Amino acid sequence: MKELLRKLVQARTTPEGGELAAAEVIADELGRSGINARIDSWDQTRANVIAQVKSTGRKASLLFACHLDVVGPGEADWKYPPFGGVESEGRIYGRGSADMKGGIAAIVTAIKKIVEAGTRLEGDIIFLAAAGEETDSCGAKRFTGDCGWLPRLAGVVLPEPTDFEIVTAHRGMLWLEVATKGKAAHSSTPQLGINAISSMRAVLDELENYKIPFKPHSDLGGCSMSINTITGGKALNVVPDKCTLGIDIRTVPSQNHQEIISDFEKILGKLKLRNPQFDAKVSVIRGVESLETDNDCNFVKDFCAAVGTTKTKAVGFTTDGPCFASLGAPVVIFGPGKPEVCHKPDEYIEISDVEKAVEYYKKIILKFLS
Ligand SMILES: [Zn+2]
Repeated sequence: MKELLRKLVQARTTPEGGELAAAEVIADELGRSGINARIDSWDQTRANVIAQVKSTGRKASLLFACHLDVVGPGEADWKYPPFGGVESEGRIYGRGSADMKGGIAAIVTAIKKIVEAGTRLEGDIIFLAAAGEETDSCGAKRFTGDCGWLPRLAGVVLPEPTDFEIVTAHRGMLWLEVATKGKAAHSSTPQLGINAISSMRAVLDELENYKIPFKPHSDLGGCSMSINTITGGKALNVVPDKCTLGIDIRTVPSQNHQEIISDFEKILGKLKLRNPQFDAKVSVIRGVESLETDNDCNFVKDFCAAVGTTKTKAVGFTTDGPCFASLGAPVVIFGPGKPEVCHKPDEYIEISDVEKAVEYYKKIILKFLS
């Protein structure tokens, strides 16, 4: 299990590296226990890996949905090399060790143990480790876009780092870019140009007064909007012909992303009516819907019972969960690793937590599928 985790960290599945190397590590590992895994690869380095452990089919199956990719190591110095997979004082260090290669190592090991023990299963285990969760969810979308072969699902489990809390809700994320277009001119004669930065000032004034409508959620709170980037202008003596704004909006389940985008289009339309020279457009950089699984459904109740708790939780980060919710099955997020070490220097996972996760996943598989 430890070796598998170290190899997964060493596979360096950043956006530049792609996921293929890690997918091969997993396919080899499952293959050693006689489990056939299929690698679905594209664009040379991108990959999903999928496995299905067949059963009698009397019960609905479980989908364990992981992601192979990691964010980059960042600029800060690391105590251990970010892709070394170094073991020290009971921890494995490295980018992705917690988010979420520890979870992958645990579920792969649990599946192998179940199969090696010859356990009779009444429902299939479906395993997926997908590409691109940290960027555009391309792997999860590719999987759900071609899922006619999937058996009926009892539920979906995301082995993401929740430090063994059962997460059933998170906010959504909508990243918008507003770009204003102007006309370049020598800045000694600014009247001959159209200043894209001035146009953006008008947008900023409007956004200052814009409140995104929402119904507060009991666990997730409200919707937030933060303008986080602005770029414009190329030289001190040129009237800028372009200015762009980056906006991070976090949504709650009652909201519809399309309605927010329409609001932005209306604001830009209003500014255009006021000033015919005004030219701007809004585009979506990234959208992840919010997740809300019914805490009272049987799947969540049985899942809580298998884990030995009655508590579920809502969190601030987003996952591929909403993409899998589109399959029509309840989604829970549950796995080893501390959320606070993710995406930071010296990310690590306690080896004992990964071992604990193996036992939890075995219990969950037996609860639902035997
Ligand atoms: Zn993750």
